[in-house]
Amino acid sequence: MIGWTPIVEIRYVPLPNRVRVLAKLEYLNPGGSVKDRLGAYLLKHALNEKHISPKGNIIEPTAGNTGIGLALAAVGTDITVYCIVPEGFSLEKQQMMRALGAKVIQTPRSLGMQGAIDYAHSLSQKLPDSYCPEQFSNTANPLTYYETLAPELWSQVDGEIDIFVAGAGTGGTFTGTAKYLKEKNAAIRTVIVEPEGSILNGGKPGPHRTEGIGMDRVSPIIQTDLFDGIHTIQDKDAFQIVRELARKEGLLVGSSSGAAFQAAVREAKSAPEGTTVVTIFPDGSERYLSTGIYEEEKDEKEN
Ligand code: PMP
Repeated sequence: MIGWTPIVEIRYVPLPNRVRVLAKLEYLNPGGSVKDRLGAYLLKHALNEKHISPKGNIIEPTAGNTGIGLALAAVGTDITVYCIVPEGFSLEKQQMMRALGAKVIQTPRSLGMQGAIDYAHSLSQKLPDSYCPEQFSNTANPLTYYETLAPELWSQVDGEIDIFVAGAGTGGTFTGTAKYLKEKNAAIRTVIVEPEGSILNGGKPGPHRTEGIGMDRVSPIIQTDLFDGIHTIQDKDAFQIVRELARKEGLLVGSSSGAAFQAAVREAKSAPEGTTVVTIFPDGSERYLSTGIYEEEKDEKEN
């Protein structure tokens, strides 16, 4: 059931004349995100490369969706998945990892993602037959999207795509997909999206409410020559459009989808008539209800 997610045209949120914006609904994967694809690939890679035995342990630092993807991939196997999650990320995601049989270990919020990465390394040294796939540096990550999401997208739009817009956390989705699309048609403009508090546009690393995207250093798997544009989206703009996507389109998406859509709208505004912009909606809003994703007051406090 992983993959072949539908692609929809945004129709009711006002857009500049004659520019189409299409979104691939990755939240319709069985574990609810674009990272189900990665979980399946990382597990297969760990076994094929003999990093672990079929009864081994996979340890991954994750804000959530990759952990859910790995846990899902391990269902029905004898592999144990350990998800190392920094405090402060959505609780629903941790509940889902546990529901799928993974072990969840929280690391202090003050140490950020690096704290989770360090913990994962020290645990893998102690635990026999264990492996950290390290999505941030594993080339299986962009390859997942190059081999699955990108060809699906290409065939779903019959090659009619002018601009591709995607958010980046590890950069796997953007890099794998943009590389494939450029190989098909070098004229396609590929645009990367980050939240405020991320460094790709020269900003300083800092906190943000948009979950799943943002970098505090350039990810080693990212290909910067694929950046034809970079949009940095404020949290309040991502959350405002998340609410609009629900009310006007019936699309219940997470905040990184909101950021991607805001960037797609910005691209649409400066594009000529007849342009087709395609973006990715990586996950859904249900896993963020406890964080107040639909509560407008949160944004008002920020302003
Ligand atoms: N959005 C969400 C909700 C995510 O969980 C992720 C993965 N961290 C992304 C976007 C970005 O994906 P990638 O790591 O492939 O850049």
